[in-house]
Amino acid sequence: MRDDYGLSIWGNNNFMVDNSNIAINYKNNPTLLEITKNIRTKGYKGPILMRFPHLIKKQLKLLFSEFKRASSEFNYKGAFKAVFPLKVNQYPNFINEIVKLSTNYDYGLEAGSKAELIIAIAKTPIGAPITVNGFKDKEMISLSFIAAKAGHDITVTIEGLNELETILEVNREFNTNNSSSISPKIGMRIRMHSSGIGAWAKSGGYSSKFGLTSTELLEAYDLLDKEGLIDRFYMIHFHIGSQMEEIGPLKKALREAGNIYADLKKRGANSLSAINIGGGLAVEYSQVQKNKTRNYSIKEFANDVIYLMQEISKNKGVDEPDIYTESGRFIAANHAVLIAPVLELFSQEYHEKSLRLKSKNPPLIEELYDLYRAINKQNAREYLHDAIDHLDSLLTLFDLGYIDLEDRSNTEILVNLIIKKSINLLSKEDSDELKRLQDKIQEKYLVNFSMFQSMPDFWGLGQEFPIMPISNLDKKPTQAASIWDITCDSDGEIPYNTNSPLKLHDIDVQKEEYFLAFFLTGAYQEVLGMKHNLFTHPTEVVIKFDNNGDYYFDSIIEAQNLIDVLDDLDYDIDEIKRNLNTIIEKSNLIDNSQKSYIIEKLHLYLSENSYLKTIQATKV
Ligand SMILES: *Cc1c(COP(=O)(O)O)cnc(C)c1O
Repeated sequence: MRDDYGLSIWGNNNFMVDNSNIAINYKNNPTLLEITKNIRTKGYKGPILMRFPHLIKKQLKLLFSEFKRASSEFNYKGAFKAVFPLKVNQYPNFINEIVKLSTNYDYGLEAGSKAELIIAIAKTPIGAPITVNGFKDKEMISLSFIAAKAGHDITVTIEGLNELETILEVNREFNTNNSSSISPKIGMRIRMHSSGIGAWAKSGGYSSKFGLTSTELLEAYDLLDKEGLIDRFYMIHFHIGSQMEEIGPLKKALREAGNIYADLKKRGANSLSAINIGGGLAVEYSQVQKNKTRNYSIKEFANDVIYLMQEISKNKGVDEPDIYTESGRFIAANHAVLIAPVLELFSQEYHEKSLRLKSKNPPLIEELYDLYRAINKQNAREYLHDAIDHLDSLLTLFDLGYIDLEDRSNTEILVNLIIKKSINLLSKEDSDELKRLQDKIQEKYLVNFSMFQSMPDFWGLGQEFPIMPISNLDKKPTQAASIWDITCDSDGEIPYNTNSPLKLHDIDVQKEEYFLAFFLTGAYQEVLGMKHNLFTHPTEVVIKFDNNGDYYFDSIIEAQNLIDVLDDLDYDIDEIKRNLNTIIEKSNLIDNSQKSYIIEKLHLYLSENSYLKTIQATKV
């Protein structure tokens, strides 16, 4: 039976299984395998992060078209605008694409730090919105004033009263003795009574890091009024947390924010005309139907936002607000796929050919061998129990010094083979015992990537990402798989999980290349990724399609080389190079005629990246 690895659950029709390979469900449907091989023939080895701008475009279109549909169905008067929150992915190959793709929409960037603000000011087209959130100092607020004076439509959302004081101070500096007094729009982030759910719920709720209480909102209002800046007060903002699994908490938050909006408007905030509902639109990462997390569609989401804002505005007799969203995960997650080569299968030593049987073996080993030969459907369970019993006895004999290392090796191989065989023979039964055994004999796949770099949320939050091989999909995967990355950290593992079991193929990687794809890695993972063990951001490639529907590489950025990595840590690179040269030149273990050759080789290695290059399958 074909295993589609839950593609219909998490895949959004972006990919399809084409005979034995996974292909892109777009234009000429290239397979991920052919794209991977194409990149590797150009000399790029190790893991590859593929970006597909057509998938960014798809998400943008979906977001805007659903809000447009809902607005026209409800005859909603407010506008719909959106910004991309930079913290979700700041990489230039992503941001440059999203800026290019958004020209037909009211789409801008959201910044939460000074560096992000610089990206937003430089990259957002004039006229598209910029929003500024997070904690700000005087410099950051000054940057927002500069952006406004440059003609940007920029809204600074204040998180606390002291930020408002700073805005007033900067306003005095920038706008006194000045014919044209220009300042950013002001937003206020509200501290919600309601909060989100799930791993990111901390962003909302009373104990949240962010936002103004109702008392502070009123004080801020009075302060703006007193300073004559109330006409700059433009937006109410909230964000209830990322990966919002259920729609309920959002509805509560919308009611809360809608009523705050209406009350402040009635109080005299005439310019207040927008509600920014933050991000939180969830992505379905599950590969198993029963683990599905998201309980709503984008359609339901848009309907609820528009409907509730309209209801509250009608009841309170105020104009319907413009709606802003800051969805990041929903826009970015789909677009990136990490492809990583499998380097080794670790239990391959458990093969019959590795047995070192002697002419005379300990009786228990002879018996294990007989069990292995004679096991069949009828006796499988009994023989299995016998084998496990013998294993215990034989290991005890080894500890007591009665059998040797070869005997112990034979024991381990035979018991492993018997367990594997009996699991196959008993595959119709579904007992806990078998599941436990299956767990014990999972195959460890060593994969050329760093989990800390490419999937930090798995390490930090237990967030699972869809994983599947990109070839062999016409064959039944038989091995319960756990995945090891190449860092020297035992946390760099994706263990076999009976709740979302991953089965992979029994491949001889010396004979056949086998690649795993990790999907939905386009949101948060890249910049959160850490250089643990000094493994860096992998080689990335932007894949586009021409008018004939053929794919091409728009940009390839190779993973940082060893010297650049050390440079980033502020090592004195010249000193390192000098030291390396000196120890070779001074070594009397190297023949003088060989020294320049060795130095040359060493410098060649310094210009390459950390990921492993070895083990290229030699096709037979
Ligand atoms: C993180 C964040 C977002 C993005 O959230 P997603 O769940 O990625 O959509 C939006 N707004 C603010 C204020 C944020 O902090």
